[in-house]
Amino acid sequence: MGDPGRVEGLEPYSVLGASRSDSPRALRRRYQELVRQLHPDRAAQGLGEGEREEQLRRFLEVERAWRTLGDAETRREHDLRARDRALQQEGPIQDSFSIDDMDWDDDQLEASRPCRCGGLFTVSAAEVRGPRGGEGGGEGGGSPPPPPPLLLLGCDTCSLRAELSGASG
Ligand SMILES: [Zn+2]
Repeated sequence: MGDPGRVEGLEPYSVLGASRSDSPRALRRRYQELVRQLHPDRAAQGLGEGEREEQLRRFLEVERAWRTLGDAETRREHDLRARDRALQQEGPIQDSFSIDDMDWDDDQLEASRPCRCGGLFTVSAAEVRGPRGGEGGGEGGGSPPPPPPLLLLGCDTCSLRAELSGASG
């Protein structure tokens, strides 16, 4: 039965053979291609039982990966969670700067700063301002937690971490 650690760590991007920077359209194409290949109705012919099971297993993985990545919001949540996990695993903080040192992107509602490796540290408006800042998001009844005074950011390419100060505004 297996290898629970490995199943747990199945990364939806690698299941689809895609990468984090792929456009939604590229992801969809990749998904459709895999479903065509792996769909049980088609794959069954000419395969032994073990192979059939393997195909079915992969088909289900692809479906699950697509449930995460096929929707802009769940994809974003996934990316943030993956980044948080990476942050918890890594070692000491390598850099420190304030929000004013970052470049603001109005389209993405994100601030970014280049890392030494050529990758980017990014932080979203919601993370910086906390849930009460900006417009929208007035549906939760309780009192939202205050924004953290300090945020840890992870590079999207390497394992460097940085400390963002002055996030309280
Ligand atoms: Zn980096």
